Amino acid sequence: MTAPPPLARLLIVGVGLIGGSLARALRRAGFAGEIIGCGRSLTHLERAVELGVIDQATTDLAAAAAEADGIVLCVPVLAIEAVLRELAPHLRHDAIITDVGSTKGSVVAAARAVFGTLPANFVPGHPIAGTERNGVEASFAELFDGRRVILTPEPETGGAALERVRELWQACGADVVEMSAEHHDQVLAETSHLPHVLAYTLVDNLARKAERREIFRYAAGGFRDFTRIASSDPAMWRDICLANRAALGEALRDFRADLDRIITAVEQGDESTLIDRFSRAKTARDRFTREEP
Ligand code: NAP
Repeated sequence: MTAPPPLARLLIVGVGLIGGSLARALRRAGFAGEIIGCGRSLTHLERAVELGVIDQATTDLAAAAAEADGIVLCVPVLAIEAVLRELAPHLRHDAIITDVGSTKGSVVAAARAVFGTLPANFVPGHPIAGTERNGVEASFAELFDGRRVILTPEPETGGAALERVRELWQACGADVVEMSAEHHDQVLAETSHLPHVLAYTLVDNLARKAERREIFRYAAGGFRDFTRIASSDPAMWRDICLANRAALGEALRDFRADLDRIITAVEQGDESTLIDRFSRAKTARDRFTREEP
């Protein structure tokens, strides 16, 4: 783990699971600056102060932005443009800005819409870490340990800002990698957004059946494992699906084609297709879980 960047006043906009965990992880790493939390609800923010997650709470984004030399946007992805619009006129020229949004093309587009171009100090980012819980109460300092954080710098992104944001995440225990926003959105559509849509759809499908009580009564560990992520915040996932609709639509269509092939194999009693596909999947998952950080 490296030392956190020497920021005097870090503003976290949206002190929920990710924003709260970032604040806790920075404190654990010895971050010496002040951490200000901003959001819509003073009650949520005061709870974050009580829990020792942030030093100060405010709902006045403009005033908080004017004093911050580091800003991390931890709000749902479709709220990012409005937040940027509100803080833009008050930003210090040297403030480093980053975000944690689960989609990156939409965040880059939002920043360009607000500033006309991507500011050199804006470094889009996404920690590949989370749980199905939300809110500051669910936050914990170890969330990013050994996890990847993807930064998606654009040609306009300045090297010094990129380095600062890299140091910020490394101090939280994360491995930082870089890729384009477009590639990020394609990869995450397949590895994160598609599984969430499948889990929500499966649970919703079963929950609407007349015999749902029976189904859930006899559901075993496998069902619980597969559907855990359907307990995630629906509004956050609505935003992610809307913000990454092109790549997610493609991933869903590709999955539907495979599902159609499995339906045919099941209905035709095609054992070799079933054993081939299940064996290939088992090998791939066993390798992935062995290699997981
Ligand atoms: P969360 O626990 O619900 O926290 C979101 C915070 O943003 C809340 O504290 C909320 O506080 C504030 N907020 C919500 N809507 C807002 C709005 N319209 N304007 C201003 N503030 C608003 O959610 P989270 O899981 O931390 O997710 C935050 C971001 O991290 C999202 O962009 C998400 O895509 C990304 N992310 C999530 C995960 C995950 O697994 N959860 C993983 C990686 C990245 P108030 O209600 O008090 O305003």
